[in-house]
Amino acid sequence: MKKGSGFLYTSIQGIRFILHTETGMLLLHLLFTFLHGISWTLQVVFTQRFFDSVQSLVERNVSLTSSMIALWCMIAAYAFCQVMNGVDNCHARILSLAVAKQTNLNIYRRVDQMDCIEFEDAKRLDYINQAIHGAEDLVWVCLTLLDTIFFYTTYFVFMGIYLYTLKPVLSISILAIFLPCLISNFIKIRTFHDLETVSAPIRRECDYYESCAADVRETRLWGVNDYFKQRFYSCLKTLNRFLMRAQLKKSVVNLLMDSITVIGYGVILFMIFVFVLRQEITVGAFAAVLASIGRLFSFMSEVISERIGWASEHVAAAENFMSFVADHNDQSSGQVFCGQADITLQGVEFKYPQSEKFALKNLDFTIRKGQTLAIVGENGSGKTTLCRLLLGLYTPTKGQILIGDIPARDVSDENWSAIYQDYCRYKMTLKNNIAISNTQQSADDAKIEEICEKAGIVFNHETLPNGIETMLGREFDGAELSGGQWQRVAIARGIYRPYDFIVLDEPTSVIDPLEETRLYQEFIKICEGKTAVVVTHRLSSVKIADCIIVMKDGMIAEHGTHAELMEKNGEYKRMYDMQSRWYV
Ligand code: ADP
Repeated sequence: MKKGSGFLYTSIQGIRFILHTETGMLLLHLLFTFLHGISWTLQVVFTQRFFDSVQSLVERNVSLTSSMIALWCMIAAYAFCQVMNGVDNCHARILSLAVAKQTNLNIYRRVDQMDCIEFEDAKRLDYINQAIHGAEDLVWVCLTLLDTIFFYTTYFVFMGIYLYTLKPVLSISILAIFLPCLISNFIKIRTFHDLETVSAPIRRECDYYESCAADVRETRLWGVNDYFKQRFYSCLKTLNRFLMRAQLKKSVVNLLMDSITVIGYGVILFMIFVFVLRQEITVGAFAAVLASIGRLFSFMSEVISERIGWASEHVAAAENFMSFVADHNDQSSGQVFCGQADITLQGVEFKYPQSEKFALKNLDFTIRKGQTLAIVGENGSGKTTLCRLLLGLYTPTKGQILIGDIPARDVSDENWSAIYQDYCRYKMTLKNNIAISNTQQSADDAKIEEICEKAGIVFNHETLPNGIETMLGREFDGAELSGGQWQRVAIARGIYRPYDFIVLDEPTSVIDPLEETRLYQEFIKICEGKTAVVVTHRLSSVKIADCIIVMKDGMIAEHGTHAELMEKNGEYKRMYDMQSRWYV
């Protein structure tokens, strides 16, 4: 979607979205809104009829019965108006809830389609933030346009016709007041569009510092709550400065618009007073216009200052949602990776967005099918980045990765599994925490228990009182596991999923070195016959791997088996000897 396309374009796109997702509800809403608009005009017409019939009754031109009928018609018109007012407002709220559900679904779907690398880009995160913000506003921006057409315009057109039949000059003067108000709103739309663009990154920064300041664990331990509060207030100050400027501009425009409205109101009152004195309109028409003119102006100010004014402030946000969901990645066909195949890296290089430095350079190697490859190296050497490329989460900046002869990103992840450093801690039962990696099949309790044992999860009454049915996490009154136990749950989850290719990316930071070595060796045994990649900086864990790659500054420094690398007496041996000293 074109950015900065404005209220009308965004609303029309939004209405198409609502029409597509909630067709019946939208059409019903239009009917209610239209009837609501008509009901206000009926009030005016029947008020005039009643006043005219009372005057005729006094002059003995009509019977009491016809005056009573006019009275009942007027009462019915007022009652109808009140009912339609309630129905219209209530239905708008129901519609907004239904649309909110659809907008959320669309955001989730779109986020799901995004490349993992996009989440490393601050601009893309701003974009998501803006879309979520805009989704909440979309329905009300669209309802503003629909209400303007089906309610306010219906009312103004019918009132215009009514006033024209009384005196053409009356309806023309209303139009003359209406137009300047409309123009002034374009200025507001522009102002708030610019505001939304500049404020999104600052708002994200504000939210981040606020969450840091609210952190009761680490932040408080370091005693840096005040530091984050200060940063939060400084961002808030900048945000408020932008807001103040936009609000000031809006207030000046509003003042101008209100002045025009008040002048117009006075002119019309004066005109009808003159017309009734000259007996050019009836006393009934005078009373009806007098009673309705206030309503006419309050509706005019409501639609322009409040409704369109509000929508103009929020249209930029709604536009962000529309353009976010309209964007789409050309998703790969996701060919299923059946059985196993060699994984080949050809001249692979990779750079993160907004980063000048290549995180990976000149990678050329093959992981034979069924082989266990260990990637070792110091922090920052590129191990995690390489795993993400192998899993097809990131696409190489240069070169290519082939699974058999298919590029990695075109292969579906159906037969792949991974255990990441930043694994999830699902607040569900232990069983569901593990079975979630294979939702295609119903959970197999015996297999889960066997895997738990392999992953080193100890069942005792204190930590897991209900075995695999124990609820995990304090949020739902479940058992709180230690960091090491959570890591074992993540490992169990990874190996529960059926896979031909698996990556274990160091999810063992809080497990002691000896236990980690046991887990890695257990893992390598479990993966026997399957292609596996294990990542670690503790070399003793991977001695039994088929092949070891030593990463340094994003490149392969050495490769071979443990024995070969020890014999080479290079980087691997230096690291190995150093680490051996730690454990002596
Ligand atoms: P390792 O797993 O060996 O610790 P990584 O793969 O995490 O190393 O990082 C390799 C390099 O890429 C490092 O220089 C790191 O600073 C950089 N890097 C990692 N993540 C990002 C990111 N999101 N944006 C920019 N650079 C990154």
